[in-house]
Amino acid sequence: MVEEQLLDTIKREQGLLQSEVWKTFDIDSKKASRLVRKLEQSGMIRRSSVVSNGSRTYLLEYNDTGSPLDNLFSGGVLAPCIECSTECRPAVCDPLAQWTVSAD
Ligand code: SF4
Repeated sequence: MVEEQLLDTIKREQGLLQSEVWKTFDIDSKKASRLVRKLEQSGMIRRSSVVSNGSRTYLLEYNDTGSPLDNLFSGGVLAPCIECSTECRPAVCDPLAQWTVSAD
């Protein structure tokens, strides 16, 4: 399963650029984004913004500290993604935007 292979690679390599995921696993970039989002939402990995070769991307790192459940909360509020069944479009998702603001 690609998801498990991706997680193993992130652990083994001690990080992986998100821009390399689709190339490494020979999948389209949309599927790569979905896999990364799923792993991040589950608390298995964390992402941090970086610039590589002049382009912005994310460094994916294995999240081996704390409980995976910690990432499901922001400002004590449970992530809206947990009970969401709509087509995921994070860039225009009001519940997600409101949830991330709740941490401030
Ligand atoms: S649509 Fe919004 S709330 Fe639903 S899974 Fe996507 S980001 Fe989360």
